Parts: sequence; C-alpha cells; structure tokens
Amino acid sequence: ARKRDGKNGAQVYNSAILDKTRERAEIETDIEAALAANWFEAHLQPIVDIRTGACNGFEALMRMRHPRKGLVPPGAIVSVAEETGTIGQIGNLILEDAVANLARISRIPGMFDTYVAVNVSPLQFDASLPVKLSTLLGRYAIRPSRLVIEITEAVLMHDNPEIRRLLDEIRNIGCRIALDDFGTGYSSLSYLSRFPVDIVKIDQSFIRSLNNGDDDIDRRNKMLIEGIAAISHKMNCHVVAEGVETEYQRSTLIDMGIEYAQGYYFARPQAIGDVLTMLNADRSGDRIDSIAS
Ligand code: C2E
Ligand code: MG
Ligand code: MG
Ligand code: MG
Repeated sequence: ARKRDGKNGAQVYNSAILDKTRERAEIETDIEAALAANWFEAHLQPIVDIRTGACNGFEALMRMRHPRKGLVPPGAIVSVAEETGTIGQIGNLILEDAVANLARISRIPGMFDTYVAVNVSPLQFDASLPVKLSTLLGRYAIRPSRLVIEITEAVLMHDNPEIRRLLDEIRNIGCRIALDDFGTGYSSLSYLSRFPVDIVKIDQSFIRSLNNGDDDIDRRNKMLIEGIAAISHKMNCHVVAEGVETEYQRSTLIDMGIEYAQGYYFARPQAIGDVLTMLNADRSGDRIDSIAS
C-alpha cells in the first residue's frame, strides 16, 4: 500500500472510526428492536458421539431474526450487548428458549436424556443466576444435569471468589460446567486445576489445523490436541472437539481418544423446527451424518 501523508492518513482514520461508530449504533438499535419484538432465538447444533454420529446433546447459539437482514449471527451482537448491558436480558431469553426447546426434544423417543449447553457471558454471572437456572429447570421439568453452562476463560480470569462461589452453587443445583474455546487463553491449564469443570471444549482453531499435511507442524499440533485431551480426561472431564469439518479430522480425533464432537461435518446449528424434523427423520432410519451439511 502507498504511504499516505499525515493529513490524508488522518482523514482515512477518521472515516474508519465514523463507520465503526455508525455500525455499532445500528447494532444497538437492532438489539433494542429485537428485545421489543422478540427477534432472538436459540438455534441448536448437535454435539455427537464422534464414533457413531449419534446426537448426545446440543449447543444453543443465539441468532437475531431480523425482518430485513435475515438471521444475524451473535458475533457483533454479543460484544455490543455486553457494552450496553443488554446481554443480561438477551441471555435470559436464550436460556429460556434453550430449555423450552430441550423439553420439546425430550418428547421424541430416545431423546429423554439429551442435554443443552448454553453460552453464558461473564456479565451474567451475578448472584441471581443460580435461582434463575433452578426456576427454569423447575418450570420445564428438566433434570439439572441436562443443562450445561458454557463459560469462557474470561469468566475465570480474575480468580474472583464470588465467581467461584457461583460456579459451586450452579454445580450444587446439578448443572454441569463446560469450559469453551479451551486452549486459546493465557493460562488455560491452570483453570482446570483451580475451577470445577465437567466438560472441556477444545477450541476449533486446534481442529482447523488438523489437515493431511504430514509435516512437523501437523505432528506437533496433533500431540498438543492429544495432550489436552489426556489432561482433561485425567481431570475427569468429558472432551468435545469443536469445529469438525472433515472425515480426516473426525478419524484423527477418534484415534486420539476424543469421545464427542461438534461441527459442520455432522450438522450445522438449526432452528428448533428443523431440529425436530431431523430427529424424527433420524428415528425412521436415517443417520444424522447423512443429513449433515
Ligand atoms: P462458541 O460458543 O465457541 O460457538 C461455536 C461457534 O462455532 C458457533 O458460531 C458455531 O456456529 C460455529 N461452528 C460450529 N461448527 C463449526 C464448523 O464446523 N466450522 C466453523 N467454521 N464454525 C463452526 P456462532 O453461532 O457464530 O457463535 C459465535 C460465538 O458467539 C460463540 O462461540 C459464543 O462465544 C457466542 N455466543 C453464541 N450464542 C451466545 C449466547 O447466547 N450468549 C453469549 N453470551 N454468547 C453467545
Ligand atoms: Mg460455546
Ligand atoms: Mg467454542
Ligand atoms: Mg467461541
């Protein structure tokens, strides 16, 4: 790129900031409208037994169904909602939608034991969360172990005793804790020893770099994933590999002793109606991996 003189550079910079500001303001407006008109929904992505492809549970992923823009993914929404403080309201809606959908899925024969995993923002971790969870579980008659709370290392980062107490309380209710995007933070391994965790989700960046290239980097990446899985198992955690997209990745992960996976290779996140259709088709003989992608 051509080196700009100071003045021109400043103009470009200013207009970039202006675009960012407009974009952010627009997301803020969309969030307000979405809360008022009920545009938030929890889509569900199957978490499968990696060997058989059988659906073990689901991750609830927030979507905004915008009447003009269509389905908006959570990326930009979550960070703006965390800044403006609306993440609490959105999070409550997603939690309720996820548990309500789990209750509907439970009525399909063979699905009475599946679980749903819900992403919870650090800002949702306040003293009212455990009561919210148990109220919700009671309302939909869901056994607590079927609700998994997904947290990222951002929740644990400050080693706050209040957070520790809340995690213990949530586990005392009977819900399980999953550590999301594992391996991407600053001190991932130490969180495993300091906090009660039931499920480790290996971040998709590790899975993405699993490819056929039989070079040194590939071999080292494999050892790293295998090591993470072994440590997690030693800590009595289940392991879920995120972002599995190819048969090569699937079979390599099986060889490493990983039991569960999630990714486009098996199924994409879907609205509840499509999930119910898929599960009913599955019952009548089709396997879930034949419906993937
Ligand atoms: P996450 O919790 O790590 O969720 C996994 C993301 O990977 C999802 O993106 C999912 O659609 C995507 N994914 C699944 N399989 C594949 C694959 O095979 N390949 C690729 N490339 N991607 C795959 P999504 O739905 O856009 O969500 C992004 C992030 O937004 C989530 O990452 C989570 O951190 C956050 N998020 C989603 N829903 C909520 C929510 O209700 N509350 C909060 N606080 N955060 C949420
Ligand atoms: Mg997650
Ligand atoms: Mg993740
Ligand atoms: Mg993520």
